[in-house]
Amino acid sequence: MAQIIDGKAISQAIKDEVKAAVEKLNKDGIEIALAVIQVGDDPASAVYVNNKKKACAYVGIRSLAYELPEKTSEEELLALVQKLNEDPSCNGILVQLPLPSHIREDVIINAIAPSKDVDGFHPANVGSMLIGQPGFLSCTPAGIIQLLKRSNISIAGKECVVIGRSNIVGKPMAALLLRENGTVTVCHSKTQNLKEVCKRADILVVAIGKPKMITADYVKEGAVVIDVGIHRMDNKKLCGDVDYDSVFPICSAITPVPGGVGPMTIAMLMYNCVLSGKENSAI
Ligand code: NDP
Repeated sequence: MAQIIDGKAISQAIKDEVKAAVEKLNKDGIEIALAVIQVGDDPASAVYVNNKKKACAYVGIRSLAYELPEKTSEEELLALVQKLNEDPSCNGILVQLPLPSHIREDVIINAIAPSKDVDGFHPANVGSMLIGQPGFLSCTPAGIIQLLKRSNISIAGKECVVIGRSNIVGKPMAALLLRENGTVTVCHSKTQNLKEVCKRADILVVAIGKPKMITADYVKEGAVVIDVGIHRMDNKKLCGDVDYDSVFPICSAITPVPGGVGPMTIAMLMYNCVLSGKENSAI
């Protein structure tokens, strides 16, 4: 019977650890504040932003909300980021993606001070992660490493296959699995024989963005399957990139959707905020 990796419980444990760390910092006279910037009124972004604000309230981090109109120019957004970069009372800056098409995401991400880039998207933090130096780790992949470690699943020496090579999930995931001494293969839309490559995996991380695409045919008996995908189906229920019912009987452990990887992203964001409060000048 496969182990269901409980992202809700593990993310709760991390948030409670963060809450205790924030209380300790507060006692030392250090307050943590996260600026959350949303441009436009995309309903999915509004839900994510709201969840981040709720998590901040839970762990004791002050959230500074900036809800800007859709027509905000790139220059105006850059000016706000610059102001927050220089504001010593603001520890972290999060710009909710996607941005409206007239604003270049890479220009905005590059403008955030690396020491406040709690999403871990700035090239300086991505580079630090690759060469094993201190910095902020991208929240979703860092959360997946925590899910594995806290479920007593060892990574060292394992065949790890990541499907997807996006900058926010696939690439940093591969780098973090490598850092944990996994033997890592990255697949993408041009990969040949995807099923065969996936069947080599002891740990299969799926971030492909296609609902229920990964069936039992892609999974080795006894593999650990991590489903990053999140999709709303016609019946309003959520599903992942993995066909859970097909894969569950043959894997040794699996993350459900919802309640697997999803809650970890925000928990790791809270963790990064505490890190920024402790080491703002060192990162
Ligand atoms: P992207 O669309 O940016 O990347 C998808 C990747 O999958 C690309 O690298 C693409 O390859 C690859 N791919 C697409 N089709 C195939 C195929 N048929 N065979 C092999 N590879 C393929 O998605 P993200 O990385 O941003 O997100 C992935 C999923 O994770 C989404 O469902 C998203 O909603 C979810 N997500 C969940 C988060 C959470 O907190 N739980 C956080 C972030 C994302 P190529 O590069 O060649 O195009």
